Amino acid sequence: MNKIVLFCITALLLASCKNTEEFTGFSYDPPDVTNTTDKEIDPQHRRVVGIDSPRVWISNEFEGARANDIYALNDSLIEVFVAPENAPINNSPWFAFKVWSDTIRTATIRLNYADATHRYIPKLLYRTHPDSLWKQELELDVRYDSANGTGTFDIMLAPDPVIISAQPLHTSSGLMGDLAKRGIIDNGFTDVKEAGKSKKRRPIWELEITEVEDQVEAPVLAIVGRQHPPEVTGYLASLHFLEELTSGSELAKEFRQTFVIKAFPMLNPDGVDLGQWRHNAGGVDLNRDWNNFNQPETQTVRDALFPIKENDNRHMFYGIDFHSTDENLFYPINEEVKTSPDNVTQRWVEQIIESHPEIEFRVEEFDTSSPIAKNWFFHTFGIDAVTYEVNDQIGEDELEEVSRSAAKLLMEILLEDWEQKTLDN
Ligand SMILES: [Zn+2]
Repeated sequence: MNKIVLFCITALLLASCKNTEEFTGFSYDPPDVTNTTDKEIDPQHRRVVGIDSPRVWISNEFEGARANDIYALNDSLIEVFVAPENAPINNSPWFAFKVWSDTIRTATIRLNYADATHRYIPKLLYRTHPDSLWKQELELDVRYDSANGTGTFDIMLAPDPVIISAQPLHTSSGLMGDLAKRGIIDNGFTDVKEAGKSKKRRPIWELEITEVEDQVEAPVLAIVGRQHPPEVTGYLASLHFLEELTSGSELAKEFRQTFVIKAFPMLNPDGVDLGQWRHNAGGVDLNRDWNNFNQPETQTVRDALFPIKENDNRHMFYGIDFHSTDENLFYPINEEVKTSPDNVTQRWVEQIIESHPEIEFRVEEFDTSSPIAKNWFFHTFGIDAVTYEVNDQIGEDELEEVSRSAAKLLMEILLEDWEQKTLDN
């Protein structure tokens, strides 16, 4: 054991250990995460399992489901065992399953995880009619067992199924509906096209939102999201954000008459639909593949945006990558790193925090060494970019309020920066 390790162990007892050696990626990364060649994934068996008496039925036969094994532990306890697509992996144990019974009864269900501990508060999705959409969501009360990392809850069951899921269920087939109901598409200025396909041949959709003509010079705002399947609050933040950018406000109109927005709101449709914890169907963390580009999803965005470098009328200007974690957290590029325009994130985040004094935000600057989307924007175009992390447990109203206000603040900053740049030239 060398001195640094020994020092770290000692220091860990007091505080977290700051390593002064070369930056090797985020602290929560499993080893070898930046090797992004295909890794085997363990497919879950899709099936309906009936146990106990009167019968309780549990199914994972739907898009976004994950429940690898189901069994009765005893007369009063049903265990749903949940495993990741492969390991090692971060602790983001996604689960989603349908459950119903032959007659009205209560059941106690325990969530047990391979390679992880309980993290997400289970949401109950139900429908008011067998033909209506799944949408109403209630959070269930969970008894967390820290020794075993399990979460247990009680639920009233009936012959009409309900869905229990880690976060609200937003899968790839729902994307167009999610966009349409917010007016992000079908508005006369959003172009939707399939930019490429995922590993399992699902479309990767690209939105181009602008009212600028092709032959007119314009800056470009790039938005990517949902690289990590369970990060639903980040996905919803990106939709509220786009909703504000496509709204009828004077600011949004001016923005669209000046800027081109290129958005890829669901970059990992396979992972989302397969109910995976983090990776794509190649078994890889997409947000560590922005240097190697071994996966079709990252290749698609690169190939869609790279030609902007050669286009005299388009100037890449700023990039946002939406995620979720256990807090509201911005990862800007280090202030000392010179970007053009410079320190957009620092100025933007300061205004977001000022506008929402009641909400907690944290800011953690990073250098540009790790192979993530934000750093690809910087290394390729010399621009500033941010990893925008939304709290897993943020309330619906707060999520909409912050996302829309953040969009307004950013539009103002970017419009000013672009004006300044054209004055300087
Ligand atoms: Zn993420």
